[in-house]
Amino acid sequence: MPEGPTLLLLREEAAKFAGRKVLEVAGNSRLPDIQRMRNKTVRAVRTWGKHFLLEFDRFSLRIHFLLFGSYRIDELKENASPRLSLRFANGDLHFYASSVRFIEQPLDEIYDWSADVLSDAWDPAAAKAKLQAHPDWLACDALLDQQVFSGVGNIIKNEVLYRIRVHPLSTVGALPEPLLDALVEEARNYSFDFLAWRRVYLLTKNLLVHRRSVCPSCGGKIRLAELGRTRRRAFWCDRCQPLYGGLAVQPEPMYAPRRRKRPAAAKKAAVAKKAVAEDAAVAKKAVAKKAVAKKAVAKKAVAARSTAAGQVPAKAAPTQKRATAAPAKSPVRKKTAAPVGKAKPVGKLRKINKMTSSAPGSRAR
Ligand SMILES: [Zn+2]
Repeated sequence: MPEGPTLLLLREEAAKFAGRKVLEVAGNSRLPDIQRMRNKTVRAVRTWGKHFLLEFDRFSLRIHFLLFGSYRIDELKENASPRLSLRFANGDLHFYASSVRFIEQPLDEIYDWSADVLSDAWDPAAAKAKLQAHPDWLACDALLDQQVFSGVGNIIKNEVLYRIRVHPLSTVGALPEPLLDALVEEARNYSFDFLAWRRVYLLTKNLLVHRRSVCPSCGGKIRLAELGRTRRRAFWCDRCQPLYGGLAVQPEPMYAPRRRKRPAAAKKAAVAKKAVAEDAAVAKKAVAKKAVAKKAVAKKAVAARSTAAGQVPAKAAPTQKRATAAPAKSPVRKKTAAPVGKAKPVGKLRKINKMTSSAPGSRAR
């Protein structure tokens, strides 16, 4: 996900569209009134943290890049269809895999610009007060809270905590005041460093702990885990980043675990598919068996007819009977097999029911 500094770069690049009229609107966005921007003039190009905003006369366009969003200016992205494309006389603007929305109120009414770490309106005292109001927040969650540190993303979070030598699972209320001040200060400082490195394509080179395996200070192993309510990836050094306070139990995730849900659903679908395939195979086998048996019956009947013409019809009759008994055997076997097969899952289900019915009880205790 692009972090605040990346949006600032976009804002700079897109500044040339301010004062320009939108000539054409395209893209696969399902917003019903997406064409309302056509022939309207962009009054201002703004950002609030990770929100990109185009202000028109009585409304604004808001782009949120979510987890995989991206943009292109004056060029198209290969093998991707834009969610929204805006054509101007002096170039065009394309957004991919982003959330597109209109805001009807004046932006100054709904955005707290003082929460944007990269804004001139940034207010560190207000951020500190917000943190002090939530002493049980984990440091790793606090930095990602967009109402406190708008624009801070996962990379900035990890690097800031390493810079100020604070374990990501520390609780905000347990931080000594100078460390709390440092956390607020570095959220902004690091964001500007990020921006400067990004401009010259040196961001990755300057990362100390994010996506690293060895601590640059002590040579220890960098640890990695999805922590906090946000369950975002934290990288930290146990030796260099002491734990202040902390919680006995990890807080509940604030979002449904999206990544884990999908494989589970896929697994379920695969199991269902396998069961259908197995059923089909069993049915096919039964049909094949029947066909073989039928063939055998026909063969024997023909043989009986040719050898004993009309003299021994009694001999043909029993073989036919035996032959017809043979194919009947498999359905019979199937019939007896089916209840046994069914009986097993019932037993299993009972067991599972027992287990699940006892589980909440034990949890309640
Ligand atoms: Zn270390």
